[in-house]
Amino acid sequence: MATEEAAVTNFIRDIINEDLAAGKHSGVVTRFPPEPNGYLHIGHAKSICLNFGIAQDYAGRCHLRFDDTNPTAEDIEYVDSITEDVKWLGFNWGESCFYAADYFERIYGYAEDLIKKDRAYVCTLSPEEFKEYRGVPNRPGKSSPWRDRPVEESLDLFRRMRAGEFADGEYVVRAKIDMASPNLHMRDPAIYRIKHAHHHRTGDAWCVYPMYDFAHCIEDSIEGITHSICTLEFEVHRPLYDWILDALEVECHPQQIEFARLNLTYTVMSKRKLLELVRDGHVDGWDDPRMPTVSGLRRRGFTAASIREFCRRVGVTKVESLTDIALLEHCIRDELNKTAARAMGVLNPLKLVITNYPEGQEETLEGINNPGDESAGTRPVPFSRELYIERGDFREEAPKKFFRLKPGQEVRLRYGYLVTCTGCKKDEATGEVTEVTCTYDPETRGGNAPDGRRVKGTIHWVSAAHAKEVEVRLFDRLFTCERPDDVPEGGDFKDNLNPDSLSVTRAFVEPSLATAEPGSRFQLERTGYFVVDTKDSTPECPVFSRIVPLRDSWAKKR
Ligand code: ATP
Ligand code: MG
Repeated sequence: MATEEAAVTNFIRDIINEDLAAGKHSGVVTRFPPEPNGYLHIGHAKSICLNFGIAQDYAGRCHLRFDDTNPTAEDIEYVDSITEDVKWLGFNWGESCFYAADYFERIYGYAEDLIKKDRAYVCTLSPEEFKEYRGVPNRPGKSSPWRDRPVEESLDLFRRMRAGEFADGEYVVRAKIDMASPNLHMRDPAIYRIKHAHHHRTGDAWCVYPMYDFAHCIEDSIEGITHSICTLEFEVHRPLYDWILDALEVECHPQQIEFARLNLTYTVMSKRKLLELVRDGHVDGWDDPRMPTVSGLRRRGFTAASIREFCRRVGVTKVESLTDIALLEHCIRDELNKTAARAMGVLNPLKLVITNYPEGQEETLEGINNPGDESAGTRPVPFSRELYIERGDFREEAPKKFFRLKPGQEVRLRYGYLVTCTGCKKDEATGEVTEVTCTYDPETRGGNAPDGRRVKGTIHWVSAAHAKEVEVRLFDRLFTCERPDDVPEGGDFKDNLNPDSLSVTRAFVEPSLATAEPGSRFQLERTGYFVVDTKDSTPECPVFSRIVPLRDSWAKKR
């Protein structure tokens, strides 16, 4: 993590410092508790960096805990991807990987305890009645007629719920709290429900499952968590979190602390919506390079360090905000600017013929691998009479300020010679330019004129005979607007999908890239940072994906 600056402090660290100074805890234990119902996204990365970062800095522990209390949406595929992603981000849970499902027996026992204390009861209201009785925030709700069901009867029913005697929805267990509370979460919330469903970990052992709010605080308590960090939407659940642990009189009562979730422009972050994109085939899987998932960003070519740096720069606050996706792109660009080797590739090729360069002759020029890092050395770059240049670097008629190729103008071929444009050939039918001609000055090898004459434009190129053809994938934002979740009545976030988020072309690249390994990153000069795709690239048909273009809209905005 040498390129990263020290963690910035934040209000959560302030709380922890105070707790430690007051002797409240002997050490710090946090947790990252994903539900394995989807792949992790960049928002989760923020939570991971926060929780594991705190554990690291306070020499404590951060548990990886699968919050798998909802059997229908969860899957082992998600467990595996989450494990891989957290590891890849550079964090280590040691021995502390846990599953909420492993606590089902204890959580069930705690629910029985609440019933025995007359602080929970089995309710027979239908889901519709349940909702109706609960009421609205500014008016008290109505008590269930089953609220005063005798303890023995509730206990018996709960045990029969567990034994599988009833159908889904027939009964629920509810905490007995306060039907007049202005906080709806405190109006006798359900804590256990019947669900005849197969669980990825416990199989068919259970047909009753705890509700999230009941399970989560117990999981934290069982694991001895000191600071239970979650996002702001759980602030209104905190009284319930505390009520349950107080009612159960457990030894360990963690402190819940909420922070603002990460929102990014041009991005949807909800797992449900990301799943929809995958299921409906709008993207090529969870790891599509356009996805904001950790696996998508990894495939796109982002490094773990760049994501950690992004999270550090975003910071941790209690104020909802929308982060510019340009900051994320800035972080990888900034890193690759220092580390990525340079090479040349032409995305939209146009033939350039140097008419005074002897036919059949070729030579080897020297390309500098990284102008900012001398130790990166040089590479051989073959040069010959026929080259490819970018179509956009030639204009037959061009304004004065166009410093690239136009008839009569001299430009520098990167690492090569100075050449002067002499004309072009066109397709008679279409008028399209098919070839540009020029002459070179043999005295200018390396790109400088001995007489010191000034040449403003420098263009990249590849030798036609030596070039390697590859597939290039260029990405644009997945959505066309900053807040794709904001849709008018009756609309759908998918209406905001960008139909041009992926464009595929064929490009010619210099031969040094022919053997680039999948996952390796480099800069194609003037064009952007690229990665060899880890999924689709083969030695026969290499696939280069653009991570980001060179232009830094974030730096420009500063
Ligand atoms: P989503 O709302 O995207 O479906 P989730 O909150 O349901 O996500 P969980 O698996 O419950 O997903 O999340 C695990 C942890 O990650 C939680 O502690 C949650 O607060 C945190 N988290 C989820 N999304 C974000 C986000 N956008 N920013 C910061 N933390 C997040
Ligand atoms: Mg959640």
